[in-house]
Amino acid sequence: MPTETKIGFIGAGQMAEALARGFINQNMVEAEHVFCTDPVEARKEVFRSFGTVPVDGNIAVAEAAEVIFIAVKPQYVPVVLREISPKLTEKHLIVSIAAGVTLAVLTEAAGPKAKIIRVMPNTPCLVGETAAAMCLGHGAGSADADLLQRLFESVGRIFRVDEKLLSAVTGLSGSGPAYIFLVIEALSDGGVRAGLPRDVAQALAAQTVLGSAKLVLETGKHPGALKDMVTSPAGTTIAGVHELEKAGIRAAFMNAVTAASARADELA
Ligand code: NAD
Repeated sequence: MPTETKIGFIGAGQMAEALARGFINQNMVEAEHVFCTDPVEARKEVFRSFGTVPVDGNIAVAEAAEVIFIAVKPQYVPVVLREISPKLTEKHLIVSIAAGVTLAVLTEAAGPKAKIIRVMPNTPCLVGETAAAMCLGHGAGSADADLLQRLFESVGRIFRVDEKLLSAVTGLSGSGPAYIFLVIEALSDGGVRAGLPRDVAQALAAQTVLGSAKLVLETGKHPGALKDMVTSPAGTTIAGVHELEKAGIRAAFMNAVTAASARADELA
């Protein structure tokens, strides 16, 4: 059953759209209970096109909604919160999805009244497969955590972590879809180089990533064990794996996560 809670988005960009569409598609909230604003008129039109209610200005979102997603770029978050803080009450739950903006900064900018939660989602929430993490801040209690748990479980999975781990989450799952899109594109290029038509190569690559992820999640087996199961002696797969190892694939992914986590810390 959809929640009666009114949900607002300050910043109607890519991530806000993915969340709003996800919540609505999964029937977690009625579209007419979703409010948004953005200085770019075209973004409001996109939100209007799927039934939500664009309003003029950030304060209007604070007046219309109880749960307010702050979905602007990190550097604008304190400015936006200071702007709406006179309108915030104990009923408001601020949900910041901005990379690197700490609970301390959020609380200082929002003032003492509103409850605060930080969430680090990723864009696959659009298709019901987000990997997200949250940490509770000022005033937020178990009812607020439950609401977010329900919202995010309708569009994927969410984990509770300590705030100090949110940068690591940002580096892994927040930024991770981009890494996997590179992988899919590269696998697809490999397929084309080996003679496959582009559309078939891309579909095979994406389905291979999807199926492999499902195998990990549904069997609970270690990925190394699953890899061992498909690498026969002197076979084709171990020849491919050897090339990846020569190119330092593991270090490259570890470095990517570490660099993105460090960048999230820098933004803090
Ligand atoms: P985006 O640029 O697509 O969206 C930001 C929107 O905010 C824009 O439409 C912009 O016009 C609007 N905006 C700018 N100033 C504003 C203001 N003062 N008031 C209201 N709106 C304003 O960016 P995005 O990728 O959706 O990222 C938004 C937030 O989500 C960031 O803080 C980012 O760290 C976080 N995030 C993004 C991803 C991702 O995959 N893109 C993943 C996790 C978290």
